[in-house]
Amino acid sequence: MRDKFIVPEKCTGCAACSIICPQAAIDIKMNQDGFFTARVSENCSNCGKCKIVCSALSSNRVVNCLGAYSVVSKTNEVLETCTSGGVCFEIADQLIKNGFGACGVKYNYITNVAEHFISWTINEYSPSKGSKYIQSYCKNAFQLLLDGKKYVVFGTPCQIYGINKIAQLKGLEENFYFIDFFCHGVPSYHLFNAELKYIKKKMRSDRIHKIEFRSKINGWKTYTMRVHTNKGIYQSSRDLFHKIFLSDGCLNKACYNCRFKGQSSYADLRVGDFWGTKQKNVDKGISVVLVFSEKGQRLINSLSDKCIIKEENVSEILPYQNNNYCKTQNKKLIDYIAHSCNIEKAYYKYVIIQIMFNKAKRFKNKILKIFNKQSIALNLNSEGN
Ligand SMILES: Cc1cc2nc3c(=O)[nH]c(=O)nc-3n(C[C@H](O)[C@H](O)[C@H](O)COP(=O)(O)OP(=O)(O)OC[C@H]3O[C@@H](n4cnc5c(N)ncnc54)[C@H](O)[C@@H]3O)c2cc1C
Ligand code: SF4
Ligand code: SF4
Ligand code: SF4
Repeated sequence: MRDKFIVPEKCTGCAACSIICPQAAIDIKMNQDGFFTARVSENCSNCGKCKIVCSALSSNRVVNCLGAYSVVSKTNEVLETCTSGGVCFEIADQLIKNGFGACGVKYNYITNVAEHFISWTINEYSPSKGSKYIQSYCKNAFQLLLDGKKYVVFGTPCQIYGINKIAQLKGLEENFYFIDFFCHGVPSYHLFNAELKYIKKKMRSDRIHKIEFRSKINGWKTYTMRVHTNKGIYQSSRDLFHKIFLSDGCLNKACYNCRFKGQSSYADLRVGDFWGTKQKNVDKGISVVLVFSEKGQRLINSLSDKCIIKEENVSEILPYQNNNYCKTQNKKLIDYIAHSCNIEKAYYKYVIIQIMFNKAKRFKNKILKIFNKQSIALNLNSEGN
């Protein structure tokens, strides 16, 4: 193994190096912690091409935001089945009608992995609806995107970085719309496998045929895991998978120093859930969209027949995104889940304390915010006097 071009703790598994390598010397494999990562073989000829497309070896870029919007699909069925306001589905629908292929993520029920795939009709695209909160395997689909046809690609910001770099190198960037999202990070597959084992045991089932990672059956803001098995439907709003995922201890190492937070993006549009106090009474979901290119702006404008679109202020969006309270991976937690495959025991042994710590930190931040607001108001008053 010659992994000198790969920085393991920064590898996002975006597959760009593997696709660009002229010697087919890089494979994307799952590592022992349950994340897809790059591995270099003896076939490497030291040409250095992989380094050009790797986000781990490049510098940060923060882009200007040309506009910020809230977007809600006007179609009830779309709103009910998508994660926030259905903007990704509406973008795919619009572009597929204009001759584009849409590259999104579905869950593969045979391999139990989330994977990118390409669709040319909106029916084919449909399994992309809904976020799959695990790392997707993107190599097979991404390498098909370089055939000169037009595509819209949805993915994590690190995946979009990789495919965008390759498109630039091949002179193909005009063929693409790139859509990324505010990204919390991806949890280990060991966690997800333990979740599936737990659900199967609880349901006395041996087959799962549909997973809704964040069903809206109890509303947009409750993270309801809903899994359809051959013995009925498992449903929980206090699901351990989400609790452990959001406690941040078992994300991919690269996610703790992610270079793509806030306005650092290589996409035309960045989408997400419109969190914040303004949406207190919204139960069906709203998407937020940041526009990073003229092309992206035209795309959003073209959705006005299908969606309710309102201009928003970026300062009301960014503070509610990507609060990773835990700054490093908890290797003991990952090893424990990998070996025991027991999500309940892992939760009580390693996670509950982290959750209490995160709550305390959130509470402290709130108090500080109130305190800061009051001292600003006091300063303004005393300046006025
Ligand atoms: C791992 C992960 C972390 C996220 N973290 C945040 C966050 O911190 N804050 C926030 O506001 N939003 C986050 N999102 C995005 C959010 O969940 C919604 O996808 C977004 O609001 C768009 O909503 P929608 O209604 O248009 O989604 P949908 O129409 O439901 O579309 C979801 C889109 O995401 C793509 N997708 C699904 N799963 C994956 C995956 N595993 N990898 C790559 N692409 C995928 C699909 O192809 C589809 O295009 C995250 C999504 C994922 C997958
Ligand atoms: S290009 Fe992507 S997959 Fe390859 S080493 Fe860099 S981050 Fe990892
Ligand atoms: S240096 Fe060249 S041959 Fe070696 S892995 Fe990278 S792209 Fe492939
Ligand atoms: S947090 Fe950053 S590194 Fe992790 S999956 Fe998201 S974009 Fe990639």
